[in-house]
Amino acid sequence: MKPEEILKKRWGYDSFKPLQREAVEAGLAGRDCLVVLPTGGGKSLCYQLPAAAGKGLVLVVSPLIALMDDQVAAAREAGLAADALHSNLKVGPKREVYANLNSGKTELLYVSPERLLAGDLYGAIAPRLILAAVDEAHCVSHWGHEFRPEYRRLTEALDLFPKAARMALTATATPAVREDILKQLGLRSPEILIGHPDRPNLVYRAFPRRDQIKQVLDTVQRHPGEGGIVYAQTRKDVERLAKKLKEEGVACAPYHAGLGAAERQQAQHDFVNERLDVIVATIAFGMGIDRSNVRYVVHANTPRSVEHYQQESGRAGRDGAPAECTLLFSASDLATHRWLAKKDIHLSAERTRAMEKQLKDIGRYAVSPVCRHGLLASHFSAPYPPEGQQSEGCGACDVCLGETKGLPEEEARLTAKKVLSAAWRAEGRYGTGYIVNLLLGRPGDRVAANGHDQLKVFGILKEAGEPAVRSWIDQLIVQDYLEVTEESEYPLLRITAEGRALCQDKGTVRLGLPVQGKAKKKPKVLKTAAASFAPSDEALFDRLRAVRRALADKAGIPPYVICQDATLLEIAAVKPATPEALLEIKGMGEKRVQKYGQLLLDVVAGKAEVPQAD
Ligand code: ADP
Ligand code: MG
Repeated sequence: MKPEEILKKRWGYDSFKPLQREAVEAGLAGRDCLVVLPTGGGKSLCYQLPAAAGKGLVLVVSPLIALMDDQVAAAREAGLAADALHSNLKVGPKREVYANLNSGKTELLYVSPERLLAGDLYGAIAPRLILAAVDEAHCVSHWGHEFRPEYRRLTEALDLFPKAARMALTATATPAVREDILKQLGLRSPEILIGHPDRPNLVYRAFPRRDQIKQVLDTVQRHPGEGGIVYAQTRKDVERLAKKLKEEGVACAPYHAGLGAAERQQAQHDFVNERLDVIVATIAFGMGIDRSNVRYVVHANTPRSVEHYQQESGRAGRDGAPAECTLLFSASDLATHRWLAKKDIHLSAERTRAMEKQLKDIGRYAVSPVCRHGLLASHFSAPYPPEGQQSEGCGACDVCLGETKGLPEEEARLTAKKVLSAAWRAEGRYGTGYIVNLLLGRPGDRVAANGHDQLKVFGILKEAGEPAVRSWIDQLIVQDYLEVTEESEYPLLRITAEGRALCQDKGTVRLGLPVQGKAKKKPKVLKTAAASFAPSDEALFDRLRAVRRALADKAGIPPYVICQDATLLEIAAVKPATPEALLEIKGMGEKRVQKYGQLLLDVVAGKAEVPQAD
């Protein structure tokens, strides 16, 4: 069977996503390859499809047991003979896995690195192995953010199977990590398949933070009943936000390293199984979350790097349907990151420099009034728009949607000069609040007392209002025109040499502002399934979701493993009446139609009993 035919029959998809076909063909032809595709790019299929081709066994090394179990469940839904071997397996199931292996039934075997390195699998695997895939391959790299020492030893094990092709897969696109993967995994003249890092289905927004809970709620309340993740900086932030959201009636739970393992596991489990809509978390939450229908990720605080942001925001919309990612920026978060990093360990000069650059980069991302898809792409050295695509703005970020406006060049320069001269006048002896008072013309406790109400800059930005002035100060900090010094007890705001040069019209500056009252549109999730989606279709979609959840509960697997939201949306819009019509729906392969077809058709026809959502 041709790869296309297998794709249609097993997964119900009509076409490959970018580079999937190339990866599949390399795997089937016995060539090594490196696959770099963004989250949601469909990496699993690159090794799962060769397993479905009937040529032999595919082995997958995967770092997390939770991920493995979900992947096995999903592969089985597509009709593959898939199993996993890891330390959490009970004796009975383990025996079954071995029996399947020894009888040659297994098509796809997931193993943890430890399990593979134990060495006892050789006899069962070697004769039939055609492909060894290493998923989340960035774990071999010290440069990545999830280094796993056992990954470094994988080549020892892989070298035992010289005839099997090797495939390394990751979403991490930095060249250093890529090089490390090639070297550490011993890829032999590999084909290198690097996809574009852009996630076109994500709407990116970055706003100055003013009223954290209000701004978070603004996004959460646009998505009632849908899955979302709210990231905050510290455990305290997490607890506070989770409490507030609960008070607002949002089904949510906190998640951070200070909670007990059982509590964390429960929160994760409930979220994955759609019993909770929102998780409020520190970055401890994420790896191992494969819930594909996360509709939004809000960063209530600034993340520590663009790489972290890409990774964390990337958990939205893995199913390819529209999703939103909002970042609430404050320069004070950057100071907290510095403080947290230095609190526990002494950082080398090199590490400190690297950290400062990362903080600067994420700050620039957050405050530049420039297309955010473009900024992210350029951070990862990719062209934007991707080659062969139209430009005219992405249409999917706050800047291109007109929710944030850049000030015209002259106005930006003039405004920056006003802010900077206030800081200059204050001689670096005061904090941000003081400069804000000065610019807004508020005598405050000290401005007048110091005689600063006589300065020309006093009240010079009165019209602009406090939020704008505060945001401009932040914007000037990340552009290096102002700096916050922590030499005294309180953080002080000081003009830099670059800032003084700008006051003499040397250098360029960008300033932006959120546009007040601009209605934020919810991404049109429902529109993607079909051009017309009536309210009655939406009701049918809700019924299909309830049925899916009941099925998932019974099988002990997450709902999105049964099938994707997009598939249910298409069913709700198209209303298939026969199994043949159901097979035409994207994501309905033969096995799924066999297993669930009649029930889904009955729901569409109004003949099935639908469990009540609780
Ligand atoms: P990654 O591991 O790259 O983050 P996954 O392998 O989890 O991505 O796939 C993301 C989603 O894309 C899954 O829901 C998967 O079913 C879907 N998908 C994969 N290949 C295709 C395809 N060719 N057409 C449509 N959807 C696909
Ligand atoms: Mg994956």
